[in-house]
Amino acid sequence: MSAQPILSGGDQTTKTEIRFHDTMSGQTEPFVPLVPGEVRVYTCGPTVYDFAHIGNFRTFVFQDVLRRYLKSKGFRVIQVMNLTDVDDRIIQKAAAAGVSIREYTVKYIQAFLDDRRALNLEPPEYIARATEHIDDMVKLIQRLTEKGFTYTSEGSTYYRIAKFPDYGKLSKIDVAGMQTGARVDMDRYDKDNARDFALWKAPKPGEHFWETPIGPGRPGWHIECAAMALKYLGDTLDIHSGGVDLTFPHHENEIAESEAATGKKFVRYWLHAEHLLVDHEKMSKSLGNFATLRELFSHGHKPSSIRFLLASVPYRRQLNFSPESLQGAASSVERLRNFVARLRAEKFPEGSTPAMAERGAKAKEEFDIGLSDDLNTAQALAAIFDLVRDVNTAMDRGEFRLGDAEPVLEAMEMFDTIFAVLRDDDAQKLKSLGIATNAATLSDSEIEALVAERQAARKRRDFSASDRIRDQLAGLGIILEDSRDGGVRWKHK
Ligand code: AMP
Ligand code: ZN
Repeated sequence: MSAQPILSGGDQTTKTEIRFHDTMSGQTEPFVPLVPGEVRVYTCGPTVYDFAHIGNFRTFVFQDVLRRYLKSKGFRVIQVMNLTDVDDRIIQKAAAAGVSIREYTVKYIQAFLDDRRALNLEPPEYIARATEHIDDMVKLIQRLTEKGFTYTSEGSTYYRIAKFPDYGKLSKIDVAGMQTGARVDMDRYDKDNARDFALWKAPKPGEHFWETPIGPGRPGWHIECAAMALKYLGDTLDIHSGGVDLTFPHHENEIAESEAATGKKFVRYWLHAEHLLVDHEKMSKSLGNFATLRELFSHGHKPSSIRFLLASVPYRRQLNFSPESLQGAASSVERLRNFVARLRAEKFPEGSTPAMAERGAKAKEEFDIGLSDDLNTAQALAAIFDLVRDVNTAMDRGEFRLGDAEPVLEAMEMFDTIFAVLRDDDAQKLKSLGIATNAATLSDSEIEALVAERQAARKRRDFSASDRIRDQLAGLGIILEDSRDGGVRWKHK
C-alpha cells in the first residue's frame, strides 16, 4: 500500500507507525485507513450451533485486542460482528431437535454474549444476525445476477467463479484447469474442492426457508457476511478478520461476491489469527478436542487467566493450549495485580525520583512499540514485566518514593486498556454466569465488611476473633495479605 503511513488516529498521541500483516499481500504494511481517524472493521462472528470453544475465543480475543489498540491510538472504530444463525449445521441440528432455527440458536447466542462479557470483550458497534438480513442478501444476489455472475440449477443459485478473474487471490489457489460448472452445495469445503458455490439454496423437505423474489430457500454462509459488511461499512472496509481457516473458502468467496457487485476493492487489510492447538492439532468441535469457557470456569479457571493466555501469544503465532499454560497465565495476572496493589497501598517516603518517571515512560513507549508491530502482544508484555521487576527491586531497596507511583501506574493503566485483566472481578463474573465458586457467594462489600471487622479485632488485640474471620474468608476463597504498614489487602484465590 503506497499511501503515507499514519502515525495515529485522532489525537496523534505517539509517533509510532502502526503496521499490520495483510494476508492478501503477504506483507506487514503500514496501516492507513480509508478515512483518516476512522477504522471500519468486520470481524467474522460465531456460527451459533453450539457453545463457542476457547479456540474460537482465541480469535475473538485477538479481535478485541485489535479494536482496543486502535481506540487507544485515537481512532474511531466501527466494528461489525455477525452471528451466523443459519447455516448447514444449524439447520441439521434444529431439525434433529424438532425446533425452529430461531429457538435452537437463541440459547447459544445468549451464551456467546455472556461469555464475551466474562472475557471483557468490548461490544462491537453492530452485532448483525444473518436471519435479520435476508433481504440484503437477496438484493446482493440480484445484483450479481444482473451482472452475469450467477446461474441457477434445481432452484439454487450459484456463483460462477470462472467469471471472476481474481478468484483465488487471497488464498492463492490456482483455479486454472478447474472444471467449469462443477458445483459445491456445502458451506464449508477445502481448497481441493474449489467450485462454483451456492449463494442461495433451494429448500429441502422439512428445512426452514424464506419466500423471496429469487425463490424459496436460504442463504449460503458467504453471502451472509458479504451482505452485512457492505450494508454497515460501505463498499471498502479497512480491516476484515477471522481465524486462518476462514481464508478459504469463506473470505475468498466474500471477495468474489462483493467485488463483483461493487467493482471496488472490498478490504484494505485482511488479518487472520492462527489457531489455538491442543497437542499440536487445531482445537475444533469435529475433532472433539475442545473446551468451552464454561467447562474451564467450572474446573476453577478464572476468566482473567483465560483472557491473559489468549491475548499474550501474538495472533499470528499458533497457541498450544495446556492446563500448565493456563496456570502460568493465572500467576502472571496475580503478579500484575499484586504489583498494582502494592503501588497503591504501600506507604512510600515523600518525594519522587526522576529516574522512575523515566522508567514508567520507557515502559509505555516499549509497550506501544510492541503493539504497533502487528500487535506483538508478547513484546508489549515483556516491557511491562521488565517494569514490574525493576520497580519491585527499587521498592524492596527502599529507593521508591510516593511520587514515583503515578508514572508507573500510568504504564499499568496503558497495559490494562488492552489486556483488561487487572480488576479482581473474576468471582463476580462467574457468579453472574451461575457458576458457583466459594468466593462467589459473597459480594465485594460483604467481603470488605468482614475485612474491616477483622482489622478492628486486631486493633483491640482480639487475635482469636481476627483469626476466625481470616479462616472464614479463606474458606470462601478470599486471601488476606497484611502489609508492613498495618494495612490489609484481600483477593480471590
Ligand atoms: P465458527 O463458529 O466455526 O464460524 O468460528 C468462529 C471463529 O473462530 C472463526 O473466526 C474461526 O476462524 C475461529 N476458530 C475456529 N477454530 C479455531 C481455533 N482452533 N483457533 C483459533 N480460532 C479458531
Ligand atoms: Zn464471515
